[in-house]
Amino acid sequence: MNTRETGKPIRESAAVEIGGSVRTLEYYSGAHTRLNGETIQVNENQISLTIKEPVGVAAHIIPWNFPLLLSFWKIAPALLAGCTVVIKPAELTSCGIFEVAKLCSEAGLPDGVLNVVPGAGSVAGQALTEHPGISKIAFTGSTEVGKNVMRTAAGNIKRVSLELGGKAPCVVFPDADVDGAVEASLRGGFFNQGENCTAVTRLMLHEKIYDQFLSTYLDRISRIKIGNPEDTETEFGTVISKEHYNSVMNYIEKGVSEGARVIAGGDRPAGFDKGYYIAPTVLEDVRPGSTVTREEIFGPVVCVMPFRTEQEAVTMANDVEYGLAGGIWTRDINRALRVAKAIKAGYLWVNTYGGIIPETPYGGFKQSGIGKELGSEGIDNYLETKCVNIFTGKSTGKWYRG
Ligand code: NDP
Repeated sequence: MNTRETGKPIRESAAVEIGGSVRTLEYYSGAHTRLNGETIQVNENQISLTIKEPVGVAAHIIPWNFPLLLSFWKIAPALLAGCTVVIKPAELTSCGIFEVAKLCSEAGLPDGVLNVVPGAGSVAGQALTEHPGISKIAFTGSTEVGKNVMRTAAGNIKRVSLELGGKAPCVVFPDADVDGAVEASLRGGFFNQGENCTAVTRLMLHEKIYDQFLSTYLDRISRIKIGNPEDTETEFGTVISKEHYNSVMNYIEKGVSEGARVIAGGDRPAGFDKGYYIAPTVLEDVRPGSTVTREEIFGPVVCVMPFRTEQEAVTMANDVEYGLAGGIWTRDINRALRVAKAIKAGYLWVNTYGGIIPETPYGGFKQSGIGKELGSEGIDNYLETKCVNIFTGKSTGKWYRG
């Protein structure tokens, strides 16, 4: 069902949507034993306790690119914290989450704990964001809608966490394992047809390895097996919808009109006249500051950009309004850490790319979001900290003298 709804290859549905959801549940399954407050001996006459309490009803608004995995990133910590949940899936991918709710019910989850409210974002999503009975909104989606969610949620001061768009750089220095960087960048750029907020969209190659990298990269792209998403051999499927197909194709045209050169893909793959197939696409000679280097395309389109110095690479990496993820390839650990600190993004990989691990806090800087999901911070999203001050002395004394 996940493959039918999204167009992603079934091997990605199995490994990432199902496998990743199971990993998330496993990680959080024992975490209730760690929901501890603190005991603070303020002075000899006072002990203060902090108590963690569920924030209340949480609404989860989910996009279409990973409808199951992104739901579980939110459901698991919310239920663990003691919240009840209302999920609003994307209209394009509503079916899978109903199956999840059915399974949860069969497994004994009481009625009313996990609720699914399908419908258009502007109606069902907006209603949840406005609803006074909801205390917490966890939203994953575009930056534009995220801003609206934040504004609307101010109505009753809902707690808000936002996981928004990205425009990830991947910087390859001349001392890198180039073959390793090629493989990881391929996966990073074209996995899930590039419909991935952490996708490698700006591949920054040092001029010394530029030609070597590109020749292997383009050869490897030409071997990606495009096909029917339901075929287990397929490595690359279709984008989600006609509307999104048109949007991605318009970005490619815009890139070309702004001076970029298509060196792979750029159109439907040969032999695929039907369905929303877009071949893995690489743009070269992109002008810094042009639309394709700044805006989130959310499809299989990668811009390659040469650089000379570390400072130039960092400046280019930070030259976007997003700050979600990025990659750094170098064998020099000092450089890796220096660049990791300099890149303004929330989730970085060094000498690898991709794979968001449930143990680690994930979330964006700048206009890529607010707050973290996963890890122990992911639970904090659903908890309030109450402080109880207990006087243990004989008398609190008199403030007024009379
Ligand atoms: P949208 O922002 O269009 O939609 C996201 C969700 O919000 C959908 O369920 C949508 O419903 C709903 N929605 C739409 N309008 C409103 C509204 N006014 N009030 C409340 N909810 C609303 O994003 P897409 O679904 O197109 O997903 C792609 C985007 O998600 C990309 O920008 C991507 O970067 C981002 N994303 C971020 C991730 C991260 O972890 N940072 C991970 C994955 C994706 P409906 O679709 O039914 O109208």
